[in-house]
Amino acid sequence: MRRFEYFTPQSLDEALTLLRERGDGAKLLAGGTDLLVQMKEAGLHPSAVVSLHAIDKLRGIEFDGARGLRVGAGVEMATIQAFPAVRERYTALAEGAGILGSVQTRNMATLGGNIANAAPSADTAPPLIVLDAVAEIAGAEGSRQVPVSELFVGPGRTVLAPHEILVAFHLPAPPARTGSVYRRHTPRQIMDIAVVGVGVRLTLAPGGDTIQEARICLGAVAPTPIRATEAEEALTGQAPSEELFGRAAELAQAAARPISDVRGSAEFRRYLVGVMTRRCLAIALERARAG
Ligand SMILES: Cc1cc2nc3c(=O)[nH]c(=O)nc-3n(C[C@H](O)[C@H](O)[C@H](O)COP(=O)(O)OP(=O)(O)OC[C@H]3O[C@@H](n4cnc5c(N)ncnc54)[C@H](O)[C@@H]3O)c2cc1C
Repeated sequence: MRRFEYFTPQSLDEALTLLRERGDGAKLLAGGTDLLVQMKEAGLHPSAVVSLHAIDKLRGIEFDGARGLRVGAGVEMATIQAFPAVRERYTALAEGAGILGSVQTRNMATLGGNIANAAPSADTAPPLIVLDAVAEIAGAEGSRQVPVSELFVGPGRTVLAPHEILVAFHLPAPPARTGSVYRRHTPRQIMDIAVVGVGVRLTLAPGGDTIQEARICLGAVAPTPIRATEAEEALTGQAPSEELFGRAAELAQAAARPISDVRGSAEFRRYLVGVMTRRCLAIALERARAG
C-alpha cells in the first residue's frame, strides 16, 4: 500500500471541504471492507483517505409510522439487521444486511459503503430498491435526493459526483398487507457474493384478493441492479396465483442480462432468476397476507 494522507473530519461540511480541496485523489472511508481490499489488492492508490467515522449526520437508524425509516449511510449491517422495525416491516433489508459477508464483515460494513461501491451483486441494493428507498446526498451545492433505483450507472459507478457524500437512506412506511423478501444464490453457503440476488415486495389491495403494487429487483445479472418492470406490471391488479407468478418469473428472466463468469454461466443465471423470482413472490405473498 502506498503512503496517503489521512483525515478524520468532525462534520459533514468539513468532509465536503476536504474532498473539494484534495480533488479526485481523495477517497472516503466508511467500514473499509471494500476500500482497503481495493487499496491492498486492486491497485487503488488514493492520495488522501477521508474517514466518515466522526460525522454524526451519517449515524443513526430511526423509524416513525408516518415518516418511515431513516438509516444513516454510516450505519453498519449488524445494526440494520438487528433493528426491530427493519425486521418487522422492511424484511427484505434485514435479509440483505443479514446475509452480507461474515459476522466480522457485518460489524464493519456500512449501508452507504455497499451502495457507493456499486457492485452489481451488492446485497442491500435489491432490498432498498424494492422498498422504494431514496438516497440523501450532500455536495458543495447543498443536498439532493435520488431514488436508489436511479443511483447506479455501471459496475462500480453511481450518479454520485466525486465530491458528494451519501448521508442517509429514507424508506417510506410500507402500507398494510405488504410483504418483502431478499434471497441470493451463491456457490458457497457463506462468504461468497451473489450469482443471482432477487428482491421482491408485494402490497395487497384492501380485502387482500389482488396485488396493488409489486416490485422486483434483480442483482448480479446486469451491469447494475435492475427492476423487472414488465413483471411488476403483469402482477399489478391481478389475483395472485401460481400461474401468474410463473408468468412474472418468465418476464423477470427476459429482463435479466447476465454474463458468464467463474461463478456461473449466463444460462444458469437466467434459469436461477426464474426459480428465485417465483420463490420470492410466494414468500412475499405469504408475508403480505400475514402483515
Ligand atoms: C470478506 C468480505 C465479504 C464480503 N461479502 C459481501 C457480501 O456478501 N455481499 C456484499 O454485497 N458485499 C460484500 N462485501 C463487500 C463489502 O463488505 C460491502 O460492500 C460493504 O457494505 C462496504 O461498506 P464499507 O462501509 O466497508 O465501505 P468502504 O469500504 O469504506 O467504502 C466502499 C466505497 O464506498 C465509498 N463510500 C463509503 N461510504 C460512502 C458515503 N457515505 N458516501 C459516498 N461514498 C462512500 C468509499 O469511498 C469506497 O469507494 C464483502 C467484503 C469482504 C471483505
